Amino acid sequence: MLGEQIIKGMAVTAKNFLGSYVSEERLPTIQYPEERQKLPEATRQFPFLVFDGDDPMKGLRCVACQICEKECPPKCIYIVKSKDKRVDYKGQMQLYPVTFDIDLSVCMSCQICVEVCPFESIKMDTDFELSNSDRFGGLLVNKHQLAKSNSHYRKIHPTDAAASDAALAVEVAKAQAKAKADAEAKAKAAAEAKAKAAAQPAPPA
Ligand code: SF4
Ligand code: SF4
Repeated sequence: MLGEQIIKGMAVTAKNFLGSYVSEERLPTIQYPEERQKLPEATRQFPFLVFDGDDPMKGLRCVACQICEKECPPKCIYIVKSKDKRVDYKGQMQLYPVTFDIDLSVCMSCQICVEVCPFESIKMDTDFELSNSDRFGGLLVNKHQLAKSNSHYRKIHPTDAAASDAALAVEVAKAQAKAKADAEAKAKAAAEAKAKAAAQPAPPA
């Protein structure tokens, strides 16, 4: 019917307008910034880097594998990997990012960097109040600005963070089991070598 969609739209507007006098849920506007809407859990704005523990730089989960840098469609991630290694959350030696920049003026919030990261290191933040008078420099953020705690992640995306914590716990358990098995195998090999040496006949005097 001609104009059917217009009538439907006006009906929704009228429903919200009249409903707003009796129900707060029907209020289409709020007094921002004094009032703030509770953001849905799936809200996403720009990426941040997750760290564990108390030290943002030492606790960064990122191992500078550069997968996110390669997969980012507008190429707004820039990483320089370290030359040395340090102990990661699994107790294994890993590289780390010396530089990790994201140009938020280019980022399109697609979340592909999050999807491709194998280390639960990069997640989407919900902060949208990033207006800045310096369009270029002000929106080019470095690893110090990007680093946010796992507690922050748990607060903004509790369901995803719980799944992420569980996945990491499995990885840590696997790494610990492997380290234990390796240590036992090494000790066994050393004991066997020692026994073999002891069983050798003494050379003639
Ligand atoms: S959200 Fe998308 S555009 Fe932004 S840094 Fe990640 S991959 Fe790049
Ligand atoms: S954020 Fe993830 S994918 Fe990107 S470099 Fe770090 S570990 Fe690799």
